[in-house]
Amino acid sequence: MASESSWSAAGAGATSPVTEEELTLTVKWSGKEYTVRVCGDDTVGELKRRICEATNVLPKRQKLLYPKVGSKLSDDSLLLSQFPLKASLKMTMIGTVEDEIIVDQVDSPEIIDDFELRRYEVLDIIYNEANKQKLRRRIEQYNVKLRNPCREGKKLLVLDIDYTLFDHRSRAENPLELMRPYLHEFLTAVYAEYDIMIWSATSMKWVELKMGQLGVLNNPNYKITALLDHLAMITVQSDTRGVFDCKPLALIWAQFPEFYSAKNTIMFDDLRRNFVMNPQNGLKIKPFRNAHSNRDSDQELVKLTQYLLGIAAFDDLSILDHKHWELFSEYNLKRSGHNLKFSTSQ
Ligand SMILES: [Mg+2]
Repeated sequence: MASESSWSAAGAGATSPVTEEELTLTVKWSGKEYTVRVCGDDTVGELKRRICEATNVLPKRQKLLYPKVGSKLSDDSLLLSQFPLKASLKMTMIGTVEDEIIVDQVDSPEIIDDFELRRYEVLDIIYNEANKQKLRRRIEQYNVKLRNPCREGKKLLVLDIDYTLFDHRSRAENPLELMRPYLHEFLTAVYAEYDIMIWSATSMKWVELKMGQLGVLNNPNYKITALLDHLAMITVQSDTRGVFDCKPLALIWAQFPEFYSAKNTIMFDDLRRNFVMNPQNGLKIKPFRNAHSNRDSDQELVKLTQYLLGIAAFDDLSILDHKHWELFSEYNLKRSGHNLKFSTSQ
């Protein structure tokens, strides 16, 4: 491991591939200079997220220019160590802050397909030193802001937004038309046993706007403990699937160790890869798409309420295999002899 990075002030002017050591880059944008901390095993996509933190220009709106690298910086999956970056040279970013984030959301590119990694690939990702290092840095950099206090003795439920709570692709006059059925009933019921955090791969502005429009942030029946956005994610790599982003729960556990851990946390996401760092804590929810045709029949949140309340009595949730959650729910239902009844009026 290189102990002296060419990115230190003393090394200014030296040419060397970026190492795994952390480094400081100067980025020029709109007449000002910003410094961002990255390292060689970060991807271009992660560099853009750091620049987004400093400038509020969303990663997909950024065009990065650097001498002698041509258009390679437009490939988000490339590692920074692949570029002959020099500490003495500045990067230029061209991009505009989004004001109309609704429009931005609709035209954003998206990978819908989920994939399942082989077990050894998952283990490779979890135990990879570079990934552990990234996670440590993210824990230091990203501050989870509490909207409401963590509650003693409660478990933690972490929820994705897009296709989990909301169909962000369909068009509607009112966002409530695209909300997954029974959302408020679900949150109200599980709040008895779980603190609730919402973690989306989009920007905080979007998360706040969307959750506010759906009435999730000021509901009298439950409180949201915290919101997390794309800046809390890390980029990892697998041999078969290449580079992708994920949501490492350890970032939350590190910041609230007296409340949350691998034992009492469960996360819902329609993309299995998002919990690749914590496969035992993830539950892949059936995506809620085409809201207009599915909102009368979608019962997932009713069934998942049954599951969450059923497993709340366990001391250690990570011993469960959440892939079989529906079987457990049915068993629990038969045993208890009663079903949860939610009003159908939304
Ligand atoms: Mg999603």
